[in-house]
Amino acid sequence: MLLLKKIYNIIICVLFLVMFFQCNPYPQKIKMHKQQYEYYLATIYKPYPMEIIRFEKPFPLVPKKHGPVLLTHFDSTNFLSKLILDTLVKELSVYKNLDSLKYIYNIENQWIGTINYSLRDPNFVIIHHTAQNSCLQTLETFTKAKTKVSAHYVICKNGKIYQMLNDNLKAWHAGYSKWGDVENLNAVSIGIELDNNGLEPFDTAQINSLLILLQILKKKYKIPTQNFIGHGDIAPIRKNDPSILFPWEVLAQAGFGLWVDINDSTEIQAVLPKKVALQYLGYSTKDTVAAWRAFKRHYLKDTTASVTSFNDSIILHKLVNKKINYGFSTQ
Ligand SMILES: [Zn+2]
Repeated sequence: MLLLKKIYNIIICVLFLVMFFQCNPYPQKIKMHKQQYEYYLATIYKPYPMEIIRFEKPFPLVPKKHGPVLLTHFDSTNFLSKLILDTLVKELSVYKNLDSLKYIYNIENQWIGTINYSLRDPNFVIIHHTAQNSCLQTLETFTKAKTKVSAHYVICKNGKIYQMLNDNLKAWHAGYSKWGDVENLNAVSIGIELDNNGLEPFDTAQINSLLILLQILKKKYKIPTQNFIGHGDIAPIRKNDPSILFPWEVLAQAGFGLWVDINDSTEIQAVLPKKVALQYLGYSTKDTVAAWRAFKRHYLKDTTASVTSFNDSIILHKLVNKKINYGFSTQ
């Protein structure tokens, strides 16, 4: 009798195993999926890119100064920052959580995890001035929960760069924003804040550090030349940074953003109505006056909103031409 019971139990176990493997044809795949996932988590937790990028250094480098050890009062926010990442990771790690599928009730649906995936890369760089009085003040602003603002990088006047968030995660720097048909630029961009009160010139050491950082970001994420823009460009009604003192022409010479001056020899190929040309560059014309002001601040270093002069219009159309040409280039 005892023997019969043992045989019965064995048969039940075997049946259970057979059923398990029949119901789940992907046990191996799930294991691989989890392995891949853990690999990417390890990548996120690295504070700097894993891959060492080698590039030419055409700009004078700011010597590394070994100043006072990082302000210890940021230890607690470093800890909290990691805690928030842990929470996000926990949410993602429930891979059977059906994400958008969970909102579909009336159509048959099922999650089957692919093993071929990676983190999403940014495709824009948005440049800001902090409108604050010091780097320390900005670092404190970005580490207080009540402010609800942050950036990936903060560059001080002396050229020191602070990274505050992994490039693949979303910082809260742009707010409501639109550029061309892309809305919510936070989702697709890196935010860089320059310590500057908005009324003073930008320091050379700071711009040098910015150029070096941009070179790394452009190469690593293949960010198109025309996608290096300012906060005031993507939120013209609310924002005016960076100010007219920001050297966009220096950035453009190094391959970051579009620029033309009046002596530029580019032929104008297509003359569009001025408002359409402005939209083609990327500006939202929901408030036309604000859009013109943003355009003139960026490309003409002018704080007025009206485009009346012939030269203004020429620059607008040459920029459109450049954007068309970049769109067709293979860079
Ligand atoms: Zn800003």
